[in-house]
Amino acid sequence: MERIEKRLQAGEILIIDGAMGTALQELGLQVGECPEMWCLTHPEKVKSIHKSYREAGSDIVECNSFGGTRYKLRNFGLEDRVVEINRAAAAIAHEAAEGTQHVLGSIGPTGEFMEPYGIETEEDFFEAFAEQAKALEEGGADAVVIETMMAIEECCVAVKAARSCTDLTVIASFTFNPKQGGGYVSMMGVTPAQFAMAALEAGAHIIGANCGLGSEHMIEVVRKIRKAVKVVPIMAMPNAGMPKLVNGETIFDESPDLMAENCKILRDAGATLIGGCCGTTPEHIAAISKILKSQST
Ligand SMILES: [Zn+2]
Repeated sequence: MERIEKRLQAGEILIIDGAMGTALQELGLQVGECPEMWCLTHPEKVKSIHKSYREAGSDIVECNSFGGTRYKLRNFGLEDRVVEINRAAAAIAHEAAEGTQHVLGSIGPTGEFMEPYGIETEEDFFEAFAEQAKALEEGGADAVVIETMMAIEECCVAVKAARSCTDLTVIASFTFNPKQGGGYVSMMGVTPAQFAMAALEAGAHIIGANCGLGSEHMIEVVRKIRKAVKVVPIMAMPNAGMPKLVNGETIFDESPDLMAENCKILRDAGATLIGGCCGTTPEHIAAISKILKSQST
């Protein structure tokens, strides 16, 4: 298969999966349990989630490796199993893909801060991201998405680590929230334009945004990214709506049809790599795939 960035540059629209966390919970993942450990303890269940998205029409299967840095795994006493867990995450996705999909490793934030805001050094972060990216590549991933990032320094170190230690396609993705008075910023105060330029400079092949926003807000964020950087492919993975608290539970209530309609506008705004974050189900991905892949739209 041609590399993802090459396919996008050639004008293809590619669909990524929907949510992983909620799907794992539906299959029995308990609160306080390590989701990535399921790659070793419940590989068949993880694989069944990948399959449901493949059947829904996704071109790219995203690994169950979001919290797979040693920093996140340390919370579960699993920091010495980074390589084993990430290799397994990629291997399961690779198996589920059966040669028909790209395998996209997921790299989430460490949950820590780099100097001067925290105690971690750039070298510490670099090593942790390189370790995870290398293991994902060894397991069979051909791309990696550094996602749900909010701090620009952390995002750029992760991009540089993945670029210099692997041959993977590297996607950098930030999480933005609506700003009071208009516009969007990450929790650390980074704007879409600031992120786009820094991530590109760090070496990302593809840049984009995930989580934090529903598909409608995401359209605005993509427009801002497109305005800041002209040529690079853009990824968008909105949530299925803005989160709503109902009876103490967070729900996302954007219907598959509404989300799919908005994904058409997302595409017209410049995003050609499209998937879903929190609240996105196989039904959403099926609707998105149908609408974006039909010739007449
Ligand atoms: Zn999300």
